[in-house]
Amino acid sequence: MSEIVAGVDIGSTTAKCVVLGEDARVLGKSLNAVGVDIVRDAERALDAALAEAQIPRSEVAFITGTGYGRYKVYFGQLVVTEISCHARGASFLFPGTRLVVDIGGQDTKAIRINDAGEVVDFAMNDKCAAGTGRFLDVCANALGYEVGQIGPLSLQARHAVKVTSTCTVFAESEVTSYVSRGKDPKDILAGLHASIVNRTLSLMQRVGVEPEVTFTGGVSQNAGMVHALQHRLGRPVNVSPLSQYLGALGAALHGRERVRGGAG
Ligand code: ADP
Repeated sequence: MSEIVAGVDIGSTTAKCVVLGEDARVLGKSLNAVGVDIVRDAERALDAALAEAQIPRSEVAFITGTGYGRYKVYFGQLVVTEISCHARGASFLFPGTRLVVDIGGQDTKAIRINDAGEVVDFAMNDKCAAGTGRFLDVCANALGYEVGQIGPLSLQARHAVKVTSTCTVFAESEVTSYVSRGKDPKDILAGLHASIVNRTLSLMQRVGVEPEVTFTGGVSQNAGMVHALQHRLGRPVNVSPLSQYLGALGAALHGRERVRGGAG
């Protein structure tokens, strides 16, 4: 039987899929926005990753669904929480990881894990968008930038402003008020990034700040957030171009274990 497996992560903002080969190498991956038809988004995520891998669906031995919309991955054989999948994915890429920080579109999680990549404890902020990707998206928009631009711009700040509003709506008006007072957008952005890191750090402290931290989720692709987190911790954190896919990768790894009868 083939050992090709796929993991499909349906988040609140994006759908990700990772296809793993027999040797656990990433053969294909996909990333798409999530719309109103989540079932179709899940299908599309799988099809796009299989197209990149150049593998027909019939060769996939096992599919695992994860993420906020995991129960909509109807074509899968297993459903696993994104907490467990980010833990597994982070541990696979960076085996020394003991704390995973996942900042996605609408929630932030701090996940403490053991050396087997299993969850020991976790804390999450999902009550509102404060401190999540959505917060950055709204503030980027208020300043007239794409979200991909704001991290690099924040790195050019000279005198970061202090952003005191934790609520997304109030932060948006605070940004607007700084703009009208003539503040440099780069300094405003640096203040926004620092304010998210403060919130993230308090979540991390709830589970215990471990020496090796891996940053996952879409916001890990924001260089300004990586810099602000490292600056605050006083040491580097693990981040990879695959960091946004770690939930999907972890899901695929869970499936791989099933296919191999628990052999890992
Ligand atoms: P979810 O799994 O919750 O749907 P993701 O983990 O995919 O969300 O994260 C989505 C968030 O990641 C977006 O809200 C955006 O802020 C951020 N993001 C994604 N790509 C980038 C990028 N290239 N640069 C900066 N931020 C990014």
